[in-house]
Amino acid sequence: MNVITRYLKSLMLIELFQGLSVTGKYFFRPKFTINYPEEKTPKSNRFRGLHALRRYPNGEERCIACKLCEAVCPALAITIDSTQRDDGTRRTTRYEIDLFKCIYCGFCEESCPVDSIVETDIHEFHLENRGENIMTKEQLLAVGDRYEESIADNRQQDAAYR
Ligand code: SF4
Ligand code: SF4
Repeated sequence: MNVITRYLKSLMLIELFQGLSVTGKYFFRPKFTINYPEEKTPKSNRFRGLHALRRYPNGEERCIACKLCEAVCPALAITIDSTQRDDGTRRTTRYEIDLFKCIYCGFCEESCPVDSIVETDIHEFHLENRGENIMTKEQLLAVGDRYEESIADNRQQDAAYR
């Protein structure tokens, strides 16, 4: 009996039509997938992506070389050297982040007393050559300069919860 039923089912392509009915049912429903990178999903203003060092509006770098971020980093990804300037203020002479070590935990930006080191919402970046995983102070400042508007906007949106 089972053999006959199976034979009739396969002869009438019943299983094929059952499969096609499932396809047809989902064909007109809203899609769960998006066409990345043309289409993007919404991103939280707390997204932790590529790092940046920020400046004050007068162009002075915010970082005061307190090294709190270096001390708090659980991955030991931050390396800082510092010196005292002629005006008595302290500034970094070297500020590097190893992106291979970084686990994007956000502790560095949480610890910074002057909102200098931040994690931007940039996640579309890549490295092509050996050594590019080390982000230098100049590179970090350049990211900060370029994306300051969106960095400030994201932090403003989150200000009430900080
Ligand atoms: S995000 Fe976390 S792991 Fe990465 S540099 Fe900052 S403190 Fe270190
Ligand atoms: S980035 Fe912030 S926490 Fe790190 S050394 Fe500079 S001022 Fe201190």
